[in-house]
Amino acid sequence: MSSNEQSNSSGSQTRRNILKVAGTAGLAFGGRLAAQDIPPNHLAPRPAPQSIRPLPEGRRTFGYAIIGLGKYAVNQIIPAFAECKHARLAGLVSGDRQKAERIAAAYDVPTKNIYSYDNFDDIKNNPDIDAVYIILPNSLHADIAERAFKAGKHVMCEKPMATSVEDAQRMVDASRRANKQLMIGYRCHFDPITQRTIELIRAGHIGKPRVITTENTDALSVEDPSGQWRVRRALSGGGSLMDLGIYGVNASRYLLNEDPIEVTAVIAPSSNPIFSEVEDIISWTFRYKSGALAHGNSSFSTAATSRFGIQGEKLTAVMDPATGYYNNTFKASGGDEVHVLQDPMFQIPALNQFSAQLDHLPEILASGAPSKATGLEGLQDVKLIQAIYRAAALRRPVSTDWGDWRKI
Ligand code: NAD
Repeated sequence: MSSNEQSNSSGSQTRRNILKVAGTAGLAFGGRLAAQDIPPNHLAPRPAPQSIRPLPEGRRTFGYAIIGLGKYAVNQIIPAFAECKHARLAGLVSGDRQKAERIAAAYDVPTKNIYSYDNFDDIKNNPDIDAVYIILPNSLHADIAERAFKAGKHVMCEKPMATSVEDAQRMVDASRRANKQLMIGYRCHFDPITQRTIELIRAGHIGKPRVITTENTDALSVEDPSGQWRVRRALSGGGSLMDLGIYGVNASRYLLNEDPIEVTAVIAPSSNPIFSEVEDIISWTFRYKSGALAHGNSSFSTAATSRFGIQGEKLTAVMDPATGYYNNTFKASGGDEVHVLQDPMFQIPALNQFSAQLDHLPEILASGAPSKATGLEGLQDVKLIQAIYRAAALRRPVSTDWGDWRKI
């Protein structure tokens, strides 16, 4: 029983103080509910937007070609175009022509805009396509990104942007040479609950954050083709840290608004042969100049968890789930206070992180505003991930104090 439940049942003066939020257009905040009333796992499931048809052509002008038609592309990203304001699905790149044609027919993509990996470079002559979105196994991101930049296209690339610092840097350099945007698919930066959490922390509502905990786990299945490449180092670059732990690595930076100066890490030994090439369970601790600590762990063999904790000097906050596609929640409590942020999608069905992420690229290109998820941001995470692996291998702290990633 949590301390809040205890204080409720004992009849003490629990104050359900829902933080008032100014200027949050489109973000319903808290309502009349408190955490005790709606445990996150009792929230009504949101339908995934598979069944939504694209809006009529002509309203949205920024064309993306999706590279790689796997699970995430087909189930999350492609359907999300239906709710975009500026972006539209304009092309497909796949090694499987039949699959690409089926998807093209369902989403009104002209067959002339279907490419294979062999003729991909011809995309440079296609004015329908402004950007490509790379949704391939991790180690395949860098080469195709370079080809896209050479073809004069902007690039959105899934996380982790690359499997080595060298590849990530190569992508940043190619973007600069081509003078085209490189954006990483950090969808949480577009999740309304995450955005409000960051605002609340920065505004001092929970006090100075001192300890962050991030847990990102899932039971990987190698029956599923999506699971198979994830345990092959040559394609994934690593195990649960590359795939899931990266959310915690990125989040500890945006929750603290600070980059770590040192890391220690440990990998739990596994006797399961599917983890012969990559780690299953890994845990790490980042140390920060401010004195804060961030403990993270990720796993491929435990039940799905996506939970962040933020221990502030005034309140302790929990996001659970923290990085879900929908239904993310935030609850801050301490003393007699409870504050709850609930998924605004219950009130505003048209708002989702995927469409907002897709629209961000045309928005920053039009406005000149800074990107929320740059290639440099992705490069910093790749560097931190490599430092975590090094710390685990060396069994001693490794410095991550290499200066400001924005100036690299
Ligand atoms: P997936 O296995 O479902 O899809 C991968 C696609 O790449 C498939 O269509 C496959 O045919 C194709 N492919 C091309 N060459 C391949 C090769 N040599 N080996 C294997 N597949 C090859 O994987 P996914 O879950 O869609 O993940 C793809 C990328 O998206 C990864 O970088 C992953 O980290 C990222 N992802 C991000 C999120 C998120 O929430 N941001 C969620 C899931 C996946």
